[in-house]
Amino acid sequence: MTPQAKIAILQHLIQIPSVNDHEAQVADYIASLFAPYPQAKIEKVTYANGRDNLVVTIGHEGPQLGLSGHMDVVAAGDESAWTHAPFAGEVVGDQLFGRGASDMKSGLAAIVITMLEFLEQGTQLPGSIRLLATVGEETGEYGAGQLTDEGYADNLAGLVIAEPSGLDNVVYTARGVIDYKVVSTGKGVHSAQPENGINAIDNLMKFYNAVGPLMAKHTKTDPVLGGLLHNVDLISGGEQINSIPAHAELMANMRTIPAYPNQVIYDELESLIAELNKEDGVQLDLSYSFPEEAIPGDPQAPLVQLAKQISDKVCGHDTQVVGSGGANDGAEFLRAKADFTSIEIGPGSNTSHQIDEYISIKEYLQAIDFYEALVPAFLQQAQKPESVIE
Ligand SMILES: [Zn+2]
Repeated sequence: MTPQAKIAILQHLIQIPSVNDHEAQVADYIASLFAPYPQAKIEKVTYANGRDNLVVTIGHEGPQLGLSGHMDVVAAGDESAWTHAPFAGEVVGDQLFGRGASDMKSGLAAIVITMLEFLEQGTQLPGSIRLLATVGEETGEYGAGQLTDEGYADNLAGLVIAEPSGLDNVVYTARGVIDYKVVSTGKGVHSAQPENGINAIDNLMKFYNAVGPLMAKHTKTDPVLGGLLHNVDLISGGEQINSIPAHAELMANMRTIPAYPNQVIYDELESLIAELNKEDGVQLDLSYSFPEEAIPGDPQAPLVQLAKQISDKVCGHDTQVVGSGGANDGAEFLRAKADFTSIEIGPGSNTSHQIDEYISIKEYLQAIDFYEALVPAFLQQAQKPESVIE
């Protein structure tokens, strides 16, 4: 494939405004690229109307390497603030602009093109590759969750997520996330007779005052990720100045580390809520939205080290083996039956989720060379008994 053809595929992907939805259009386009190759097994896995995950499998008997990317992008925000229209895929010099240019349609295009070039060239792979293109990564990783539940990751020997780490970073461990909400229900009455009501704000504050010190007791720190983070970021309650509030709520964001599995935190939050609810008039309800486990990792794992060596060689830099403060689809895929290493490495710039998001075309093309070298090397290595990942 010519560099122009590779750039055109990325532009086409950016021109589909898959903002937290409409991933089916991306899936349809990618599927159309594989359509000329009957040996590619194409499966669409519908999450919701207009939202299809896409799984494409190529290759032969032997170990299977997963290549994954999400098809959704975050909103463009104020489009008039962009110098280059967010869904145009405009090229200026070495920069290709647009929402998703960095996070992560360049990574997605690069893994798709890697597979297309193997097909085009009739490469005999010592195993298989499975493209896992997901919906809804930015809003809860539920596409990856669905593919995992349906068994699409059960035969993986390794997983590479093409998120925008930059090719000079291999991410082998990542923080998890717990977003939770506490709703306090009281009884609204005129504020001249508070004794007849129940103040939902007062009761919510009981939780607020207790949860900070409770979470601060988690003093273990991860050598690369740091400590557990807990922040109450949203709080609201009350209706008007002379009414006892019947409703108050808060939302908190936690960034977890492997030392504290999410269940440990759930148990603590739930017992605090249960304790407070024993008090007269207190009614607190706790809920979570799309929590993610932290990804533990071993910097010496064969896939991590191989990715570093190959990126060093292909790109001529010293690739760093690092941790990430953000969760990724790997947290879901790792729930699969197979036991494998999940890494994150892909082309990117520091403009993800920002206006005038862009990717360096040089880095994008280099990423394709990197994946094309990594895939056969990994499959070869995974076949050797001493490095088979049990
Ligand atoms: Zn992303």
